[in-house]
Amino acid sequence: MNINSRLFDRIRIGSSDAEAVVDSDAPRCDRPGCMRAGEFRAPKGRGREGQFFRFCMDHVKEYNASYNYFAGMDDDALAAYQKQEEIGHRPTWKLGVNASAARMAQRGRVANGEAGPDISDAFNLFGARRAQQAAKAEPRVGVLAMKALETLGLDDSADSAAIKARYKELVKRFHPDANGGDRSREGTLQEILKAYQQLKSVGMV
Ligand SMILES: [Zn+2]
Repeated sequence: MNINSRLFDRIRIGSSDAEAVVDSDAPRCDRPGCMRAGEFRAPKGRGREGQFFRFCMDHVKEYNASYNYFAGMDDDALAAYQKQEEIGHRPTWKLGVNASAARMAQRGRVANGEAGPDISDAFNLFGARRAQQAAKAEPRVGVLAMKALETLGLDDSADSAAIKARYKELVKRFHPDANGGDRSREGTLQEILKAYQQLKSVGMV
């Protein structure tokens, strides 16, 4: 008796598994020794992309369960592939969105006191400033006034009272009288005075 005959398959399989009855035109399962119809496609693997085995239901499950795309790839090749995955295959917008979302989440946690600040703004010094800059594209003060504020260690959110207070504090700190006659910081004091005059001239004080 020829066990490879279609008649045999029909009798053997058809009785227990109606779905797997071999059609004369359909390819057989590629699993050696299996006589059932190869109804399911499975990728042949790396280097043979676009090529498929054909399996019966049971054997496609078995194949998929043991399928390893990286089988036979040595460590260097695997590392190179993974690197490529990181920089090439992954859409960059997704990375950007995730990183940005992570930073936002981190900011939130920092604000809630649940976590330490991130590295890019170690003390969250500029968080408020950034929010302010984002809120209005136009700078509130001119370039010279901005430089003057920076000299005083202030940003453009400083009002007249804040500028006056800061100015007094700095003059006290850098004035020779307050430093036992030490005039080495006179240059700094001059810069502070100039900055204050600049702010006064544009009506900020
Ligand atoms: Zn099979």
